[in-house]
Amino acid sequence: MAPDAGNSEILWHAGTPEQKRKYLLPLVNGDIRSCFAMTEPEVSGSDPTTLLARAEKDGNDWVINAHKWFTTGAIGASFSIVMAATDPDTLPHERFSMFIVDADNPGFDIVREIALMGDHYTGGHGEVRYIDCRIPAENMLGNRGEGFKLAQLRLGPGRITHAMRWIGVAKRSFDLMVDHSLRRETRGKKLAEFQTIQNMIADSATEIEAARLMTLYAAWKMDQGDQARKEISMIKFFGAKVLQDVIDRAIQVHGALGITADTPLEGFYREARSARIYDGADEVHRMVVAKQVLKAFQIGR
Ligand SMILES: Cc1cc2nc3c(=O)[nH]c(=O)nc-3n(C[C@H](O)[C@H](O)[C@H](O)COP(=O)(O)OP(=O)(O)OC[C@H]3O[C@@H](n4cnc5c(N)ncnc54)[C@H](O)[C@@H]3O)c2cc1C
Repeated sequence: MAPDAGNSEILWHAGTPEQKRKYLLPLVNGDIRSCFAMTEPEVSGSDPTTLLARAEKDGNDWVINAHKWFTTGAIGASFSIVMAATDPDTLPHERFSMFIVDADNPGFDIVREIALMGDHYTGGHGEVRYIDCRIPAENMLGNRGEGFKLAQLRLGPGRITHAMRWIGVAKRSFDLMVDHSLRRETRGKKLAEFQTIQNMIADSATEIEAARLMTLYAAWKMDQGDQARKEISMIKFFGAKVLQDVIDRAIQVHGALGITADTPLEGFYREARSARIYDGADEVHRMVVAKQVLKAFQIGR
């Protein structure tokens, strides 16, 4: 699950042998959990060049001061991967670096678990302050100024695994919808015999298939060594919409039963809403797709 999957990827690609031994091995063994801290309450997460977190060099240590929120899995995590500015006055994409902060650092202060729509997630979503967190230089992940490069390394595959999970939830909702439509009768006919219901089934089957093939294609492109930024952004906002629409139709077909907790649908519905926001809001991913399309269109004009 996020954020451990993404953190494992960064540690695998950018971690030193010692960081891999200390953090990656127990993480992939499932012995510990981790969290990832980029987003801050005071500035727009959609423009991370404006993040306020700072890391200052002091002798052989770094001292981190930051206020982060929506740190998924923070409570009970053994360490956090934190994005903080090391050179705030240089070019925007070279300002930030990543650091590993142990959760038992005296400056690691979980302010609260944020209450939000959807069911409780292991470790919650934390608001966390890093107050003069002193960490040794060897806890920098990758090189100074590589924060955005590493974030990209993590977010690309992370969005594909989100899309994979969404397809699973959409398919489960779809199965419940079809099954119910074949059981429930009204006006002497099964729900499945009404064309309106058939349209819902056909649209959902088609959209799930499209999302599945788009996800496979994005993953395949990444396997070929391509960053697949356009394809990943496409599946991020398209997949999140398919998820929401399919669950919504499944609830509708169940009638009042659909909004009870007697089926998993109402939980899926509450959970699905945030998919259009985390790891980049829909609008930002549409912007990425449009930019790439426009660029390609203009080449050779
Ligand atoms: C459930 C959940 C888990 C999360 N987990 C983590 C985590 O573990 N670690 C972490 O660091 N962060 C996490 N986040 C934070 C998430 O990545 C940010 O919420 C996201 O990047 C958006 O940033 P923001 O909330 O600051 O919204 P803002 O950047 O303030 O954007 C607000 C809204 O403005 C609009 N908007 C923004 N940019 C544009 C644009 N270019 N064009 C048009 N409209 C635009 C969109 O509608 C957007 O929703 C999580 C969020 C959620 C909901």
